Amino acid sequence: MLRLRKGKEKKEKAEESGSGTSHSDDNEEISENLLGSRHWLLLIALVVGIVWTAIYCNHRLPEALGPTADNDRFSETRALAILKRVSVLGPRPSGSKTLEEDVTKMIIDELNAINAAAAKSQHRLEIVTHRPSGCFDIPPFDVDGMTICYKNVSNIIARLGAKSRNWQQSQTSVLINCHYDSQPMSPGATDDFISCSVMLEMLRVLTDKQRSPVPVDVIFLFNGAEETGLQGAHGFITTHPWRHGVRAFFNLEGAGAGGRELLFQAGPGNQWLLNSYLEAAERPFCSVFGQEVFQSGFVPSDTDFRVLRDYGFIPGLDIAYIQNGYVYHTEFDQFRMIPPGSVQRAGDNILATLTHLLHSPYLETAGVTDERRFVFFDVLGFFTIVYSLEIGQAVNYLVTILILVKIIFNTRKRMLTEIFVQISEK
Ligand SMILES: [Zn+2]
Repeated sequence: MLRLRKGKEKKEKAEESGSGTSHSDDNEEISENLLGSRHWLLLIALVVGIVWTAIYCNHRLPEALGPTADNDRFSETRALAILKRVSVLGPRPSGSKTLEEDVTKMIIDELNAINAAAAKSQHRLEIVTHRPSGCFDIPPFDVDGMTICYKNVSNIIARLGAKSRNWQQSQTSVLINCHYDSQPMSPGATDDFISCSVMLEMLRVLTDKQRSPVPVDVIFLFNGAEETGLQGAHGFITTHPWRHGVRAFFNLEGAGAGGRELLFQAGPGNQWLLNSYLEAAERPFCSVFGQEVFQSGFVPSDTDFRVLRDYGFIPGLDIAYIQNGYVYHTEFDQFRMIPPGSVQRAGDNILATLTHLLHSPYLETAGVTDERRFVFFDVLGFFTIVYSLEIGQAVNYLVTILILVKIIFNTRKRMLTEIFVQISEK
């Protein structure tokens, strides 16, 4: 403001002295209107501040609860015990002895221990193994698409409900899925046994004696064939008798080494599902950007979310660890790479969302109840912005029109000034 006035004063002085307005005066005025050093310093400080806040928020993780935390609280330390034991076994691709025998036994033993601890509670836990076979087409998200056939892949399924009802009486359920196989060269700590560890600890918390039974059954699917083409999830959702009552699902994935878990796909439609997350999660972190990238087919990768959605016709939430993505599918996807607090954060968020979701009236309605699509993203983890796709399109059109109007206005103004100067010179 000060510099503008100075320019103006000079212009007035020039007019008073009778020299009129010249090109050099104009240039002087324009140069004096540019940002000064103090403005640049402020601008740099602002940008550095925003970047620093973003980095700080991205690495901010909660304190991990210890092994003696209350039984009705999610504890990272308890969850990490099995993750540590599994990840030191090395790679466990589908079909390997490590997966089919060692890790399968470890998960079943853990489930049996949880079931034994819950024996005198009001909870019912049914544990079954499942060896599905089948064929299906994968759309061309990778090369030209393909048809996958599989036989006897391994699934371990635990169904949690109330003792007062069996699953035939109340078929409605929510599915939560992880995969416990890994890439042939990777110990797969974050991709994806970290999610299986979160699910086991969640199950332990939900079966605590002090807790009321879940109002709707929860199916915990530990699938043993994801990396080879999503077969485990496909086998469950197309062949297992428990598939019929599933109304919504969580898919838990890993594509990095811990950090903040990101909700990157939601739906299709069914805003109530995303709302459950936004209302219940203690520390939401979500972005529709990942959904757009994934669903565009640009990334040659996919998750079980696709088969659960497309073959089960059910809406879901896709949540994955993405920090330190350079370890994804490599030998460095190890337990030691996971920052403390990562499991605590995911466990608190997902357990709260699941608990909230189980009371949703929308679970009574099968399939997609709302076709609308939404744009959602959080701002540095402080708050989340959600609006419908229609509003997003309207805002985009409005901004485009305003920019065009501004360009036209400025161009016309410049042209008129030049004409005025030419007339004055004559
Ligand atoms: Zn994975």
